[in-house]
Amino acid sequence: DYGPAPESAGDALAWLVDQGSRFGHFIDGAFTDPRDDFESRNPANDEVLATLTKGTAADVDAAVAAACKAQPRWEKLGGHGRAKVLYALARGIQKHSRLFAVLETLDNGKPIRESRDIDVPLVARHFYYHAGMAQLMEEELPGRAPLGVCGQVIPWNFPLLMLAWKVAPALAMGNTVVLKPAEYTSITALCFADLCAQAGVPRGVVNIVTGHGDTGALITEHDGIDKVAFTGSTEVGRIIRRATAGQGKALTLELGGKSPYIVFEDADLDSAVEGLVDAIWFNQGQVCCAGSRLLVQEGVADDFYSRLKRRMDGLRVGDPLDKCIDVGAIVDPVQLQTIRDMVDGNTEGETYVAACDMPEGCFYPPTLITGLSPAAPLMQDEIFGPVLCATTFRTPYEAVQVANNTRYGLAASVWSENINTALDIAPRLAAGVVWVNGTNMFDAAAPFGGVRESGFGREGGWEGLMAYTRDAAKPKTRAQVAP
Ligand code: NAD
Repeated sequence: DYGPAPESAGDALAWLVDQGSRFGHFIDGAFTDPRDDFESRNPANDEVLATLTKGTAADVDAAVAAACKAQPRWEKLGGHGRAKVLYALARGIQKHSRLFAVLETLDNGKPIRESRDIDVPLVARHFYYHAGMAQLMEEELPGRAPLGVCGQVIPWNFPLLMLAWKVAPALAMGNTVVLKPAEYTSITALCFADLCAQAGVPRGVVNIVTGHGDTGALITEHDGIDKVAFTGSTEVGRIIRRATAGQGKALTLELGGKSPYIVFEDADLDSAVEGLVDAIWFNQGQVCCAGSRLLVQEGVADDFYSRLKRRMDGLRVGDPLDKCIDVGAIVDPVQLQTIRDMVDGNTEGETYVAACDMPEGCFYPPTLITGLSPAAPLMQDEIFGPVLCATTFRTPYEAVQVANNTRYGLAASVWSENINTALDIAPRLAAGVVWVNGTNMFDAAAPFGGVRESGFGREGGWEGLMAYTRDAAKPKTRAQVAP
């Protein structure tokens, strides 16, 4: 009844079948023999998409050795030479955008509309931007040198986009990489490896090792790694920071969040409701900067909640390949259970569940919990699911106090038709980015990152590039002088 037919999975499944649906790692420009250690499943129907190989210490040694060997030549290629390769990758992503989008949706469960219109275009944009910056930086920043070999570990919520955020700036600045995708969602990274081989990326410059957290630790703790870039949970970020502290490695961490979404009584309430659909139901709420904490000014709270509930009832949950779906599958049954446990364990406030048809399987309905106290566990802890937690405030001062009552500080949204209110509040919020009358606005040229326990360092823009260079006049790190 919803109109157009679902996007066909044909090309993507054909590509997987062509590859034998079994993958080794991508090391030194070629795939290693697959060992069938674990499976990657489609969370929407529980079908096995591919079998993958767990990265051992020997695999990580081989990947780091390949990256070390390739790095000096990649650096000497210069900004223009590297730009050519990055442009080829950007064009390759665009050319195969449909394949990447369908693979991402199959593997992660996110609606095809999102992977097709948001994730993959942003990935291409990221490579285009960094291709341009590779050339520019060489002229503008003659005193900078690459760090060397970068160990990069990424999460499952934006698999290909997180890869782009890591790989594009590192390569632009003359580094080589060993990257581990998340265990649930490695397929687009392997497809990207295939693209690297076709696009003329010299062997050893990009190495992809699959596996779980223990493989990630082998990478982040490896002696041959000069810089670690990690995106994932605050808990694992803490482990990595501790482990790398004594090793003298450069480190950037992009971690969790519990971002406030503040609605003043003079806001355009319908726009603010629509913004929330994007803030908390985009990617099933599995977004680090999701506007997961709603703060509404008391005078409009009842009106706002009733508009919001009406909108929630209209959301469509279901087959992620259906172009009309708003909310897809949760990435994995383990994650689904975590969401259930957190919501079921809550004893405060009132819970409203969207009155939409729910498919069987790994899905969770859009949920709103109102009347929570600011200190309630659900207002403090990251749920990483389609669950919006709400409270009210009376004055702008109180809004700032409640918004900043969190251990995180990744993003914030402020909704008001009065620009003075918005500009007064925005700088008082402890957050890496504040959006006014909007949410989830990203660009390759804009640095992104958190404060407090949301991490440190920035990705994107000038700051993101600087995080992949060092002062050329200073001595190299231990790993860079190793044979
Ligand atoms: P996670 O921390 O469990 O896993 C992230 C990655 O780290 C995975 O590849 C995993 O295999 C690996 N890993 C696990 N243990 C490790 C260890 N000891 N050493 C090295 N690597 C290890 O996180 P997740 O569940 O995959 O992702 C969700 C989290 O990521 C959320 O907290 C979310 O907020 C955060 N996130 C943050 C950003 C950001 O930009 N700040 C973006 C996306 C996601």
